[in-house]
Amino acid sequence: MTKNDIGVIGLGTMGKNLALNLANKGFKVAGFNRTYVITKEIENEKHDNFKGYEEISEFVDSLEKPAKIIVMVKAGEPVDMVCDQLLDFLIEGDIIIDAGNSYFKDTMRRHDFIESRGIFYFGVGVSGGEKGALLGPSIMPGGDKDAYDLIKPYLETIAAQKNGEPCCTYIGPNGAGHYVKMVHNGIEYADMQLIAESYLLLKEIGHFSNQEMADIFEEWNSTELRSYLVEITAKILREKDELTDLDLVDMIVDKASQKGTGKWTILEAINQDFNVSLIQAAVQARITSNLVERDIFSRAFLVPNGKEINPKVFKEEVRKAYTLGKLIAYAQGFSLMYDASIRYDWQLDLGKIASIFRAGCIIQAELLEVIMNVYKNEEVLSNFLVDGSMINQVNTNIQSLRVTNSLAILAGVPIPVLSSAITYLDQLRSKLVGANLIQAQRDFFGAHTFERIDVEGKVHHEWEN
Ligand code: NDP
Repeated sequence: MTKNDIGVIGLGTMGKNLALNLANKGFKVAGFNRTYVITKEIENEKHDNFKGYEEISEFVDSLEKPAKIIVMVKAGEPVDMVCDQLLDFLIEGDIIIDAGNSYFKDTMRRHDFIESRGIFYFGVGVSGGEKGALLGPSIMPGGDKDAYDLIKPYLETIAAQKNGEPCCTYIGPNGAGHYVKMVHNGIEYADMQLIAESYLLLKEIGHFSNQEMADIFEEWNSTELRSYLVEITAKILREKDELTDLDLVDMIVDKASQKGTGKWTILEAINQDFNVSLIQAAVQARITSNLVERDIFSRAFLVPNGKEINPKVFKEEVRKAYTLGKLIAYAQGFSLMYDASIRYDWQLDLGKIASIFRAGCIIQAELLEVIMNVYKNEEVLSNFLVDGSMINQVNTNIQSLRVTNSLAILAGVPIPVLSSAITYLDQLRSKLVGANLIQAQRDFFGAHTFERIDVEGKVHHEWEN
């Protein structure tokens, strides 16, 4: 009997669709799921090139050597459990590909352990949700560079394509792929919150209706702001509720949950002594949206009056503020990856990473073309905002970001990510940020010493003599 080309373990939302994507591209795919009825259901749907197995031993036996197995199960302990099971059946040279949202340090641990047994281990970020998994996601593989050639034909064939190029590239060793996916998700949190804040501003200060806002987002989607998230926002705002005659968005509870990759990004940034204030504000905004006291405070605190605005002019200010907020969110994410690349010796190619984010994934956006071009001119940049074209972007939009923030504060409209954006830019721009006084305070109470502007080295001063 002919062997299968590749196996997929975990046939939930993502695993099933990745398996079918591979099968649709002509690869012979073996499927295995902990709960067999799920495998059976897919078998019963009668897909070409897909065969399900009840026993993991049969599943592994059915694969062409070296065996290539995509693991698409819940992140965390389930991945360890599946790897432990597989190790009983795999032989040297076989390949495990963890394509779930694993924490990159778990991937580094698993990589070292599994590769010590002669089996290759890849940590692969996959973005695009259910539809992307089936039709073409953005794929971020990390692991052994030479062994990548063995899995490249599969991953690059099923990935989204942009201008004829696959949105999949070798990212780097061990945990690099999952790290990049984590930062991708961090940027996603910031961009989603920026869009939510733009919506809130247009609604609460501009008094635009949902349909008018849908038009505005649609209009933005034909400009430099074009992105998957802007596109779906326009569609969301147009959607009618099936149970009432209202707009669906107004029937949805004003609370957002999270699964953890945003939190990992900010925790990792703090470990790296790095500022990703926009991503942090976005994660905190979701946390705050769930506070039970919101109801009490909404009745207890004074409501501000706000200022009269011209809706047409205001709409333009919000567009520019969002444009800049988004640029800063991506800049913080890419700078974080730059720092990690040095810290973990990953040699990340940030231009290539921008290029594979251009299709298939949730943060796909026109802006990535601009970012890619910046890295084309200068491959190694700690912060792409230093590029001349980016400085122009900042200077073109910064006044609108200030105006929008001022109007929001006067009207009492919470925009934590947009306000982090202007604070961050002012921190970068200001000659004096007050850290001289912090140094003095630390030296005053703890003799931590300080640096002088006129003499090299650290000094201590006896403040109370
Ligand atoms: P689902 O909940 O749809 O499926 C989870 C899968 O994990 C099922 O096949 C389940 O098997 C299996 N599983 C859970 N626990 C175990 C275990 N202890 N041992 C063996 N198998 C187990 O999840 P998704 O498909 O959405 O997500 C899978 C991975 O992909 C996750 O890491 C997720 O973060 C990531 N991801 C998800 C995206 C999305 O949009 N949904 C996008 C990108 C990545 P069983 O049927 O037996 O319960």
